[in-house]
Amino acid sequence: MNILVSDKLSARGVEVLERAGFSVGVKTKLTKEELLKEIKNYEGLIVRSATKVTSEVIEAGGRLRIIGRAGTGLDNVDSDAATRRGIVVMNTPGGNTITTAEHTMAMVVSMSRKIPQATASMKAGKWEKSKFMGVELYNKTMGLVGLGQIGSHVTKLAQGHFMNVIGYDPYLAKDRAQQMGIEVVELADLFQRADVISVHTPLTNETRGLINATTIKDMKDGVMIVNCARGGIINEQDLYEALKSEKVFAAAFDVFEEEPIKADHPLLTLDNFICTPHIGASTEEAQENVAIGIAEQFVDYFKRGLARGAVNVPSVSPEALPQLQPYLTLAERMGHFQAQLIEGGVKSVTVEYFGEVAGLSVAPLTIAVLKGLLSPILEDVINFVNAPVVAKERGIEVKEVKSSDAGDFTSLIRIKVDTGQKSYHLAGTLFHKQEPRIVEINQFQVEVICDGQMILIDNVDRPGVIGTVGRILGEHSVNIAQMQCSRAEQQGGQALLILGLDAPPPKEVLDAVKQEDGVLSARLVDLSKGH
Ligand code: NAD
Repeated sequence: MNILVSDKLSARGVEVLERAGFSVGVKTKLTKEELLKEIKNYEGLIVRSATKVTSEVIEAGGRLRIIGRAGTGLDNVDSDAATRRGIVVMNTPGGNTITTAEHTMAMVVSMSRKIPQATASMKAGKWEKSKFMGVELYNKTMGLVGLGQIGSHVTKLAQGHFMNVIGYDPYLAKDRAQQMGIEVVELADLFQRADVISVHTPLTNETRGLINATTIKDMKDGVMIVNCARGGIINEQDLYEALKSEKVFAAAFDVFEEEPIKADHPLLTLDNFICTPHIGASTEEAQENVAIGIAEQFVDYFKRGLARGAVNVPSVSPEALPQLQPYLTLAERMGHFQAQLIEGGVKSVTVEYFGEVAGLSVAPLTIAVLKGLLSPILEDVINFVNAPVVAKERGIEVKEVKSSDAGDFTSLIRIKVDTGQKSYHLAGTLFHKQEPRIVEINQFQVEVICDGQMILIDNVDRPGVIGTVGRILGEHSVNIAQMQCSRAEQQGGQALLILGLDAPPPKEVLDAVKQEDGVLSARLVDLSKGH
């Protein structure tokens, strides 16, 4: 087997491949033309973030069977094009968790004792003992927003400094966080109580600008703020004002709204702001971890047929795949749909299979449900291999139930998700053996095409509500492509209105709909991304 390594990779990874008998070509900084020419000779390609693995590259790689990313982000790999060509795409999630958590804690300690400022002062020939008065971390409260892999490890490091850790993560079961010794609180409480606030969430619509002028106002005077997650979670302009007024004692950033940050960025003018140029994951160990990780995954794939870390294929025999594929799509989209309706952390997921589908090997379908359910809230690419592991790590109990009777359908899949506070149901089937449809949302019978954007509106079943909603959308020039209405058994009870849209509506549309009398809740469901 010939493997091309087209980005800088730790030598330990190359050693693993060579020891396993692969022939490795390390050719970095290839131009697009050179890569298109070179790729023809290889069965495997290993990249980091520099090489752009476009559909053109994939088409040119006639012998290519596997593409590996040493690291997590797959923005530079066209996975869909690879899937179409039957090429496995894999990554190495989790390789930089410890490193990034340690960087976070290094930021906290440096910030609280003004170490970077003191170093700069001494190097300028000064001895300003009284200028660098710091604060202790002992017995202080660390508020962590996002309790995933990195947030969990930061917890242990902060506890090692005898800090009290409080945390907020609406997608994590409460008892899971409590087992780690974290006091689970609401976001508003966290902002009010924490002496140090550190964010560890992905950048999503929900987390963008999570810390801003309004939320800072509620924080303790002299709070410290850290961002080693993603630029944009903290509003930089608002933070600048708060640092300047010393409402915020200090802040430490490894990531920025725009990278590289502009040299004249206002934050860089402040003495109580310390920063690093997105080096949270940059340690020898992390780079080695991901290099060895991807090399071992390649060896496993070529020698034992195991697709560990694969993001685009489940471990299903090539014979079983054609029959299972439409159900895999249905199951993943149902998971993705359900994820967008749930409030609170998931405690258990039960996947029920009825009719023909119950006769198939359903384990990959349950994994596809978990993949769809977890992907929107987690940073790492959730794949067919790590989805069950991640679910287990997050304390989610997963059950499968099979029955030969599918009622009015040939096959039916039903997902039941329980958060401890509330349970949610969703059922789906295939129309014409290929087309995924959601046919049940909680108590409502529906027929939803699993694609595109839609607004789901829970409302009181009474005249006028649909008209009002239509008027609001019209006023904002939002076109309704499809519409359906379903009501629970009794007239005058609760009803569900589903509006399929051509494009995502502006936020104010949803806000305006929610304000209307008779509307109980309104939420956007997006099934277009990544599917
Ligand atoms: P993860 O997926 O394991 O954890 C993310 C957590 O955020 C999950 O538990 C999820 O439930 C939670 N979450 C999602 N939306 C939330 C919300 N609105 N409010 C509160 N919690 C929410 O990811 P991770 O590996 O721990 O990474 C955390 C962050 O660190 C990511 O943004 C990642 O990109 C970043 N990161 C940065 C560097 C760096 O170089 N600085 C390196 C690695 C990771």
